[in-house]
Amino acid sequence: MDFNISEKMQTILGMMREFVDKELVPLEHELLTNDVKSLLPAIEEKRQMVRRMELWAPNHPVEYGGMGLSLVEHGLVSEVLGRTPLGFLVFGCQAPDAGNIEILYQYGSDAQKETYLKPLIQGKIRSCFSMTEVDLPGSNPVLLDTSAVKDGDDYVINGHKWYTSSADGAAFAIVMAVTNPEASPYLRASMIIVPTDTPGFNLVRNIPVMGHAGEDYFSHAEILYQNCRVPQKNLLGPEGHGFVIAQERLGPGRIHHCMRWIGICNRAYDLMCHRALNRVIAPGKTLATKQLIQSWIAESAAEIRAARLLVLHTAWTIENKGIKEARQDISLIKFVVANTMQKIIDRALQVHGGLGMTDDTILAFFYRHERAARIYDGADEVHKVSVARRILKEFEGKTIK
Ligand SMILES: Cc1cc2nc3c(=O)[nH]c(=O)nc-3n(C[C@H](O)[C@H](O)[C@H](O)COP(=O)(O)OP(=O)(O)OC[C@H]3O[C@@H](n4cnc5c(N)ncnc54)[C@H](O)[C@@H]3O)c2cc1C
Repeated sequence: MDFNISEKMQTILGMMREFVDKELVPLEHELLTNDVKSLLPAIEEKRQMVRRMELWAPNHPVEYGGMGLSLVEHGLVSEVLGRTPLGFLVFGCQAPDAGNIEILYQYGSDAQKETYLKPLIQGKIRSCFSMTEVDLPGSNPVLLDTSAVKDGDDYVINGHKWYTSSADGAAFAIVMAVTNPEASPYLRASMIIVPTDTPGFNLVRNIPVMGHAGEDYFSHAEILYQNCRVPQKNLLGPEGHGFVIAQERLGPGRIHHCMRWIGICNRAYDLMCHRALNRVIAPGKTLATKQLIQSWIAESAAEIRAARLLVLHTAWTIENKGIKEARQDISLIKFVVANTMQKIIDRALQVHGGLGMTDDTILAFFYRHERAARIYDGADEVHKVSVARRILKEFEGKTIK
């Protein structure tokens, strides 16, 4: 295993880090205090700068204008960009577009690539991924209720989804719907491309999450599909293979998420150390002189490093041994890093006292928005159960003394 960072990558990471600190962190105040739409022109301006620096779409294929970085390399990039909520969006590698791009690249027809993939990678349009339903458990997605029924050359889609992230302002959704109700549970659903201006695509609301409904990219929508009719050529990949495709996109996406969370940990940790050193708590004494705070700092350093290595190791395993070999680690990193991040943000906020609760630092934003990390992309408990099952299977029939 070799985590040496090449000279080329060191240069790239250095440029990105400088850009994040100089160009993006100063924009955060606007994100925290004003409506998101007022920030869009500034975001576009920064995106143009990134394109000119040839740092656009680091994880996407070179043939479509991306940088084509490997999984480990993009993991390192994610750590740097994760320091700010604007990082991924400004560098053109944001979820859910990144996952949709991977699916379109692998399974899209030539026409789908031309219409959806190209402008998506170029950052001309955005997309969303619409799977979770209001009335059924996202933790067991085979219980899907949304249907896509063939009628002439079309599919007619009906269903009630929510938490379709970034649907507000998106050009199209990739919708998971049941096309083959008689098939076995994992072969019942398909992915279908639905342009958001299709009649019957009804965005009901941006759901208030932790007190904020958000808007545009920073939002999560409830959507009613009501006799929403799209041509059958909008099917993405083979019919009935929705879950198979969703499973395949899991590994790389997980690495991006987890390294972004490590970036958030690093930022919160830096703020915590800075505050501890500068907050005078008694004459001549700062918070940093208190053993309890020192203990938080040391524990946080150890926990971040351990989590980071676990994710990099998983990325390395995927790249060198394949997804199958990494399956257990892909589950492990999900709950380990999400919980590490929650702990570090909480400690950093606590060290900031009342200031931590305000939007004068980024910590409260992270606290509100990143709690969801323990729920989306598989809740903690689901991953733990799956890891434990796998481990116990290895022990079956063995005698251990
Ligand atoms: C901020 C955010 C963004 C999201 N973005 C998207 C998106 O873009 N597209 C999309 O389709 N979905 C999205 N989701 C939805 C997400 O995938 C689901 O919330 C998730 O799968 C959990 O499903 P659920 O909410 O229905 O909870 P449920 O399935 O009802 O589970 C509730 C709780 O039950 C427990 N639980 C569930 N199963 C088990 C089990 N087997 N063993 C033990 N305990 C269990 C867990 O504690 C879990 O948190 C998003 C969610 C959030 C919060």
